[in-house]
Amino acid sequence: MNKPLLLVVEDDIAVQKLITTTLATQGYQYHVARTGEGSIFEAVSKQPDIMILDLGLPDMDGVEVIKKVRAWSNLPIIVVSARSEDRDKIDALDAGADDYLTKPFSVDELLARLRVSLRRVRYDREKLQKDAAVFTNGSLKIDYAAGCAWLDSEEVHLTPIEYKLLCLLAKNVGKVLTHNYILHEIWGSYANDISALRVFMATLRKKIEQGAAPSKYIQTHIGVGYRMLRVGDDEKSTSD
Ligand code: CA
Repeated sequence: MNKPLLLVVEDDIAVQKLITTTLATQGYQYHVARTGEGSIFEAVSKQPDIMILDLGLPDMDGVEVIKKVRAWSNLPIIVVSARSEDRDKIDALDAGADDYLTKPFSVDELLARLRVSLRRVRYDREKLQKDAAVFTNGSLKIDYAAGCAWLDSEEVHLTPIEYKLLCLLAKNVGKVLTHNYILHEIWGSYANDISALRVFMATLRKKIEQGAAPSKYIQTHIGVGYRMLRVGDDEKSTSD
């Protein structure tokens, strides 16, 4: 990928300056929008690689922006929110955001999140060219056609639910998935038993993490959900 192009959507000038200064020092190119309407216009006309989106915009809620963009684009969206409540993050993630930062955030945090999202962009592009029947991430391999998973060359014995969970995380590698999203995808529309999900996730992790600390593959977002990290993604991003 050439220099990634980012779209920064933020109406607070001080925060916008912090973000754009950080981007500039790292050689990222960017455009700026201050409103929801403006952000959608820029997303369509400039085709950025990643959107950094403030949730509290003067003309519309950031969650509405996510829904509108998701109607036609898979562009990674990192939400920036002054609101620390989990509910806002969860709404944004359920609407299709990939990740979130809570204000105030550090420059290092911002850059770590960007690296994770850029890996996802690259991975998506490579996947279009490669055989998508086999997923690999570090020493983890999933053969979707055969329906099995390996660590190095050892087959991992998973229950059907654990395997479905692993595939769901792998197909969304780099993206934070909310509890509700996972429950809905694995058990269907009315499932709401987060404690059951925790149990299955614990046994899955035991089998694939093999005692790695911090977790190598599956990151927990307390009160929010889970994400599979690409091995080699920034360690800092595991500090939530
Ligand atoms: Ca704002």
